[in-house]
Parts: sequence; structure tokens; C-alpha cells
Amino acid sequence: MNRAVFLDRDGVINALVYRPSQGTYDSPYSLSEFRLLRGVADAINQIHRLGMLAVVISNQPGVAKGRCDRELLQTLSDELRKRLAVEGAWLDGIYYCLHHPASIVEELKVECQCRKPKPGLLFRAAEELDIALAASYMIGDTDRDVGAAFAAGCTPILVKRGAGYAGKSFCLTARDLVHAATEISTRESALDDGESAA
Ligand SMILES: [Mg+2]
Ligand SMILES: [Zn+2]
Repeated sequence: MNRAVFLDRDGVINALVYRPSQGTYDSPYSLSEFRLLRGVADAINQIHRLGMLAVVISNQPGVAKGRCDRELLQTLSDELRKRLAVEGAWLDGIYYCLHHPASIVEELKVECQCRKPKPGLLFRAAEELDIALAASYMIGDTDRDVGAAFAAGCTPILVKRGAGYAGKSFCLTARDLVHAATEISTRESALDDGESAA
């Protein structure tokens, strides 16, 4: 079976976008708003060097809220893969939950099992990519990510980036994805040392 590091998208891989009209941070809703955070490709390469898959697990209710269309989500996924490829990095899967309980699009107005903190997307990825959840990590920047990780039996790492940070859960924390990947490396080599000592 595979092991994975599951990655939230907004606030972990790409920057959140400040919306002055709402006074909040939100997902990018255009190509020009889509900005990768520093060191993301390196961090993903580091995850692969550990022998783990890198899989995006993301709530994307923008279509349900009427803020973007499905084509834009696909465009951003393509752009993400393209920018990572420039630095030799790749994603082993991208899983989005498009649902929202207050969706204006009827077929997305669902109390689904995949909107984080529910673990449905993690279960689906585990099934499709043959991932051992208990031996995997989930890196995210909100309590929803941490909740989904716990519900699926993964180890959560909460990225505390300041802007948009909404996490209060008790778990491992890191400054950003680069730091989180380094923390995983450190933990993994400590586990290896423990095994060879035993
Ligand atoms: Mg996020
Ligand atoms: Zn869903």
C-alpha cells in the first residue's frame, strides 16, 4: 500500500486572496489571482523523496456559490500542474468537493460526505490510489482540514500562515508547507532510527 501526504489547496499550495468587499480571504477565482506560495514545488519533491504520494484534497464551493464555473477549477488545476512541472514536481491526485449546503446550483446543494471536515475525499483517494490512511499525513490551514484528517485516521499538520488562519485544533503545526514537509522528514527519519535500533 502507498502512503500519502494529503494537501489542502488554498492557503497551503496557493495564496488566499483578500476580498475587501467581504473583509475576508477567499479562493482565487481567476488565473491572475492564482499565485503559488514559495517553496511549494520543493516541498512536494521532498514528499516524493520520502516515498509518499502528494494528493490535493480541497473544498471548492465556488461553483456552488456562483463565484466561478467548473472550467475555471479545471484551468487552475492545469495551471497548478504546469507550474509544478517547471520545477520537476507533480501531484498524484487532485480531489475537490464542489458541494455546499447553501448552493445556488441545485445538484451541488447536498449534505455530502466529502466536504471537509468530513473524510469522504480522503476515503475516495485512499481507495483509488491504494493509500494506507493511518500511515499518511494531511496538511491544511483550517480546523476543517484537521477534522477531516482525524476522521480518516491520518496525522494532521496545521499550517499557521496568519492571514486566513482559522485553526484552533490541537495537533502538529508548521509555518507553511515547506516547514511541514521538513517536519514530516524529521519524524520519518526518527521512526527509521527507532526501527533500526530495535
Ligand atoms: Mg485552506
Ligand atoms: Zn462534497
